[in-house]
Amino acid sequence: MTTDFRDLRVAVIGAGMGGLGAALAFAKKGFKQIDVFETASNLGFVGAGIQMPPNVARVLDRWGCWKEIEAEATNVKDTSIRQGSTNVELSHVAMPDMREKYGYPHCTGHRSSLAGAMYKGCLKESAIKFHFSTALVSIDSYTPKPNITVKPRDGEPYQAEVDILLAADGIKSVTRTQMLALLGLKSEEEDTGQAAYRIMLSREQMEHDPEMLALLESDTVVRWIGERRHIIAYPVSNHTIYNLSSAQPDANFASATNATYTTRGSKKQMLEVYGDFCPLVHRMLNLVPGDEVCEWKLRIHKALTTWVHGNVALIGDACHPTLPHLSQGAAMAIEDGATLAECVSLIPADRLADPKSVGRALKVYELLRKPHTSALVDLATFSGRQLHLGEGKAKEERDRQFRENGKSGSVPDKWASPDVQKMIYSHDCVNEAIHKFDELFTSLA
Ligand SMILES: Cc1cc2nc3c(=O)[nH]c(=O)nc-3n(C[C@H](O)[C@H](O)[C@H](O)COP(=O)(O)OP(=O)(O)OC[C@H]3O[C@@H](n4cnc5c(N)ncnc54)[C@H](O)[C@@H]3O)c2cc1C
Repeated sequence: MTTDFRDLRVAVIGAGMGGLGAALAFAKKGFKQIDVFETASNLGFVGAGIQMPPNVARVLDRWGCWKEIEAEATNVKDTSIRQGSTNVELSHVAMPDMREKYGYPHCTGHRSSLAGAMYKGCLKESAIKFHFSTALVSIDSYTPKPNITVKPRDGEPYQAEVDILLAADGIKSVTRTQMLALLGLKSEEEDTGQAAYRIMLSREQMEHDPEMLALLESDTVVRWIGERRHIIAYPVSNHTIYNLSSAQPDANFASATNATYTTRGSKKQMLEVYGDFCPLVHRMLNLVPGDEVCEWKLRIHKALTTWVHGNVALIGDACHPTLPHLSQGAAMAIEDGATLAECVSLIPADRLADPKSVGRALKVYELLRKPHTSALVDLATFSGRQLHLGEGKAKEERDRQFRENGKSGSVPDKWASPDVQKMIYSHDCVNEAIHKFDELFTSLA
């Protein structure tokens, strides 16, 4: 057994946000062999925007990726929460001082910008090897060394042995299913009853309309809310693209179990769902080409009993899928990788000979991350309920709180709430690992 943690061989399943982050985190710590297995033939960027809050910017900056992402991102200065039906502002929360408060701005960008910068960072690391078009089929052993079977799309399955297996295989994680089944534990899906449209409009499509152009040129995140649905929107890619993402009752997937969780949506249906929203929203939805409407089912599952078995750990949506209403899903997945790399690197050299040490370090990662991510997942669900209230006393009270514009320190839209922002944005997952590792590692002996 090695006495240098950098000799431990790492396999990462999935090259999504969590997988790319984990590969980069381990490479930056000096690990020499990191194999990334990804089913898709390339990164296949989803054409959608993403919010990048200060807590993830901090991690990305340590890896040298942040500057290029920030260069084309929108530095968000405020948020406007509006009544969907009238476009009347319910709340305006200024956030001009994110950098001063948290060291980094709150940005919105294109997913390809975030994933592309991490991928570029990975390509500069000779330790990282990508195996595209190669899917994890099974985990054949979990300890002392994980053995996996992977299958290239056009080739025969083969086995690989590693020291650490990190499963960033997303919401439909094969690893989660196999691991929990082996342990006799259930992974119960929780039906959110919600689905999302994701839309990107170009400057060319919007520039003829002064109201739309103002949105595109702003540094504002706008949320139009209504009963059981809302739309969140912001500019990305140097204000050349306006990104809209919605949440509405899941009418298309509810009855059928769907393998992809996406479906080609109907423009007519989309316009009907937002039929009572204001003319500005209608004009934007009308710009979407009829054959480009795509609807995503929003999925979560009940908190897992464990994220780790032997030397195998789950990352990101595989272990803590969330509704998107707090805009923290990818951020949490990326933070997971950073925390894991820190934990494994902190195993004392004289303990590396003990085959159980790696598993214990992975368990420390779970102990560090689970309370934080569970709180954020719950907040996202709570926020969705607040945003989607129908007429009644609860909505009246919500709107009264909205009118305070965050001056009391709290806003019903938890994404925009200064107290929640402080809790999430000041969180430094790496520092936390450094400070708490020894105590937690010892407690697991
Ligand atoms: C509408 C919407 C809006 C969102 N907005 C935001 C936002 O603003 N900010 C934010 O931080 N988050 C946001 N999120 C959440 C975020 O997108 C996810 O939480 C994040 O992408 C999860 O990353 P992941 O790496 O865990 O999973 P994924 O990104 O899903 O990656 C999983 C990868 O694993 C691969 N894979 C799966 N199975 C296998 C296998 N057997 N073998 C090999 N490879 C495999 C897949 O092909 C995929 O590439 C949003 C989500 C939605 C739905």
